Amino acid sequence: MKSLEQLVRPNIWSLSPYRCARNEYEGKDARAFLDANENPFNRPLNRYPDPLQRDLKEVIAQIKDVDPQNIFLGNGSDEAIDLCYRIFCIPGKDNAVSIAPSYGMYKVCADINNVEFRSVELEEDFSLNAENLLRAVSGTTKLIFLCTPNNPSGNCLADEEIEKILTNFDGIVIVDEAYNDFAFHESYRHKLDVFPNLIVLNTMSKAWGCAAIRLGMAFASKPIIDLFNKVKYPYNVNLLTQEKALDMLKRASDVERWVNMILSERETLMDAFNYLPCCEKVYPTDANFFLAKMTDATKIYDYLVNCSVITRLRSNQPLCRNCIRITIGTPEENNAILAALRKYKD
Ligand code: PMP
Repeated sequence: MKSLEQLVRPNIWSLSPYRCARNEYEGKDARAFLDANENPFNRPLNRYPDPLQRDLKEVIAQIKDVDPQNIFLGNGSDEAIDLCYRIFCIPGKDNAVSIAPSYGMYKVCADINNVEFRSVELEEDFSLNAENLLRAVSGTTKLIFLCTPNNPSGNCLADEEIEKILTNFDGIVIVDEAYNDFAFHESYRHKLDVFPNLIVLNTMSKAWGCAAIRLGMAFASKPIIDLFNKVKYPYNVNLLTQEKALDMLKRASDVERWVNMILSERETLMDAFNYLPCCEKVYPTDANFFLAKMTDATKIYDYLVNCSVITRLRSNQPLCRNCIRITIGTPEENNAILAALRKYKD
């Protein structure tokens, strides 16, 4: 790996971050809080929240079995994706490499930050070939984004290939594990000591059922987390989100039950799709969704919208011709899509 100083944008490396009042006085109690120009009335909403979300990180650290200093929390994991560009990539000069098809925000954030985005197609079965991906890397490649289980294909990428990339690339590798709670695959966050160039993403939006509160996580070495904290908005995770997340993190047994229900529904729904005349292929998945190749994806997508069943049309994505992505819903929702498709006529 190149040194962090070589990888980070020079203006970010030398940045003096904003020091908010709550950074300077960290205690929770004082006789008078006259430091932050807050309104003294209307507790508790009148006070700025903890900018480093320390109570929440303590709990997440225990659940995820990592040190709090290796955690960054953001407004969804989308915030962490954007921060990677803002920290590491010089606009108009550096580039980022990713797999295709994959999660759309890697490219959108590159475009927003005026960073060249190079995507390398996976194999036909959506497996990763590390040598292929590494061929797209140049001297100005700062980031490689990998997503496992991958969205929209659903499959986990092979560890052997991911590790080849972590070992042979001298920049930052982001492993997005948004869907890993459905895969039970050992998380890369346990390998931060082995790979100092690794950032692992996770979120409360999927298995934890909390997309609305916007809480994403990045796990990385302390020097990388310090960079995230330097660049983020001072109070990027609001009080309501921090409190709701703390409540939700007490409900691990509900989450386990939801995941098990989703996995069992996934099996039933995928089996049923295999018997639908309008479905040509169901791709294996490790996530809470699956990709299905249909006879005519656009027509079927529109037909489903008319039946008030919304799926995600992925047919314009590389290797996804005629594919729709179906998220596993409640048994009622899953029955609704099956009932509609059983009535579909070409
Ligand atoms: N990564 C992947 C692979 C995703 O599919 C998504 C959301 N669809 C995200 C990250 C963003 O999640 P969040 O809600 O945490 O911003």
